[in-house]
Amino acid sequence: MQWETVIGLEVHVQLATRSKIFSGASTAFGAEPNTQACAVDLGLPGVLPVLNEQAVAMAVQFGLAVHAEIPEVSVFDRKNYFYPDLPKGYQTSQMYHPIVGAGEVEITLDDDTTKRIRIHHAHLEEDAGKSLHEDFHGMTGIDLNRAGTPLLEIVSEPDMRSAKEAAAYLKAIHSIVTYLGISDGNMAEGSMRCDVNVSVRPKGQDAFGTRAEIKNVNSFRFVERAIAFEVERQIELIEDGGKVVQETRLFDPERDETRSMRTKEEANDYRYFPCPDLLPVVLDQAYLDHLRSQLPELPADKRARFQSKLGLSAYDANVLSASRDMAEFFEEVHRVCGDAKQAANWVQGELSGALNRENLSIQHSPVSAQQLGELISRVLDDTINGKAAKQVFQALWNGQGESADAVIEAKGLKQVTDTGAIEAMIDQVIAESPAQVAQYRDSEPEKRGKMIGYFVGQVMKASRGTANPQQVNGLLKEKLDALL
Ligand code: ADP
Ligand code: MG
Repeated sequence: MQWETVIGLEVHVQLATRSKIFSGASTAFGAEPNTQACAVDLGLPGVLPVLNEQAVAMAVQFGLAVHAEIPEVSVFDRKNYFYPDLPKGYQTSQMYHPIVGAGEVEITLDDDTTKRIRIHHAHLEEDAGKSLHEDFHGMTGIDLNRAGTPLLEIVSEPDMRSAKEAAAYLKAIHSIVTYLGISDGNMAEGSMRCDVNVSVRPKGQDAFGTRAEIKNVNSFRFVERAIAFEVERQIELIEDGGKVVQETRLFDPERDETRSMRTKEEANDYRYFPCPDLLPVVLDQAYLDHLRSQLPELPADKRARFQSKLGLSAYDANVLSASRDMAEFFEEVHRVCGDAKQAANWVQGELSGALNRENLSIQHSPVSAQQLGELISRVLDDTINGKAAKQVFQALWNGQGESADAVIEAKGLKQVTDTGAIEAMIDQVIAESPAQVAQYRDSEPEKRGKMIGYFVGQVMKASRGTANPQQVNGLLKEKLDALL
């Protein structure tokens, strides 16, 4: 039997407002426990929530970025349940009239093809507090700082068909919210986490299978691993004659498995009702137009422009547009050197390699976009060769020089293109390598091309890397062949 995987994601994005969604308490990460939860966040009797305008603007910006319908009216509902990290007994959310309607997101797959994933809706809600299980021997600590932090929950249609597609979708959402600046997207700090709904069905069957929901997965890798485990578990279960039950599961990264937490609750378990303390949110066209006019160029548009206008490959365009910082860095390098392909190669090659080695993000690159652009210009105008360029890059990285030109000057890396000078070095190397010359002469003509590498290396060494490699190659061949 051939099985098909069906996946839908509910992504929770923490919005980057300075204060909570219904109160003035700070949302800053990492404060002492319970120092940033006020009476409103705790829902104490007599308090009244006030909606944070910034949270609304951010949610709408997201909606516009995914080409969603933005309904004129949205409404907050109370979702009633008790849990120690939700002592007020309800979460304010949007059940029936969310702020963002149906939209879609384009994802890019490993083979550089794209696919559209539909978004069912996105709604605003408040986060709950946090239970702390460490440090409290036999007890649970409660930190309510996070209570009332604004979340945008983005609910996809069940349009994904593999773990890879789910990860690509999550990356696309991450890239959109960070481009918009509406979230820091920091998954390690919980600013983005998702519930992964997974089911399987026999290939060719129209009806969906029963799904399990894996709660609170907080990394791209975990999403893939949780799905891989869950798909296998469900297929095995069904093939052994069992049935998948609709339930909430937990992913344990240590054991690489999902475990049942509880059976799924239904909407009526939560006794949703419109929040009597908050007015419906009404958005007019002028407000939407204003927000639309403020949207930055988004990742999908940038990717398309990098391909169509700059002639980059789909792969390069995708890598360079994935983060806004990376895209802006690349565009500045390109502006300075004027060659998109070279700029793309350097940013993805030498620069990304060095950043990865030292675990630095591109905003903290020791080599600025201006410096890298100038360095590439010196390669393009033949001032230095590729090998020297790497030396210059390293020097700039280590802070040994203000600019490419300064490093070239200080280290004497200017490329030697003077034929006379190169010929003199070649003559010297030939004179000092009688054994290799003999070997060259005595070998089969088709093997000589490979043997020439030794001589090129010696000449480059003699020039301290500054000779023009194409000229060295050409002249060497002439001179050696003249000895035959
Ligand atoms: P609920 O209201 O119970 O959370 P929804 O219908 O809103 O359920 O769906 C929640 C998420 O589950 C959505 O992202 C949706 O795409 C996904 N989903 C729904 N049915 C399936 C299924 N059979 N297999 C995989 N994902 C599903
Ligand atoms: Mg749900």
